[in-house]
Amino acid sequence: MSAYRDGERVVVLIPAQFSGAEEREWVDKMVARLAARERRGHTDDALYERAQRLAERYLAEHSHAATPSSVKWVRNQNGRWGSCTPADQSIRISERIQGFPDWVIDYVILHELAHLVVSNHNAQFWALVARYPRAERARGYLEGVSSAAGLGFSED
Ligand SMILES: [Zn+2]
Repeated sequence: MSAYRDGERVVVLIPAQFSGAEEREWVDKMVARLAARERRGHTDDALYERAQRLAERYLAEHSHAATPSSVKWVRNQNGRWGSCTPADQSIRISERIQGFPDWVIDYVILHELAHLVVSNHNAQFWALVARYPRAERARGYLEGVSSAAGLGFSED
């Protein structure tokens, strides 16, 4: 299920087998969720712009590779803060991090942008990530949250 804005309309995608009552309930829920995201500035558009700013700042010479085709918030990330698909240069960021400090969110985005340049976690990859001044602190923060909440979340 998802909801997004298309001009003046809000489009809500729900399973076809839903009953009328379920449909009304979920449309209300999804519209409220979208409105809450927009109030907090957690839209896909804002996320994409943020990723572009980070790429320009830290990965400028890789601007071709580090230009994502899309950057989207996603609800279900299977234990990952963020993920990317190098084949189509798309990036997904878990909604779970929306309440984290901005510098941690920036790190998660930059981590995925760096994967568009280097797909695995080799020395070259970590050298790119280390350009972000708070990379180590952010990694510590994420590890701490993951173990405190028993989430078993990991970087990817
Ligand atoms: Zn990674």
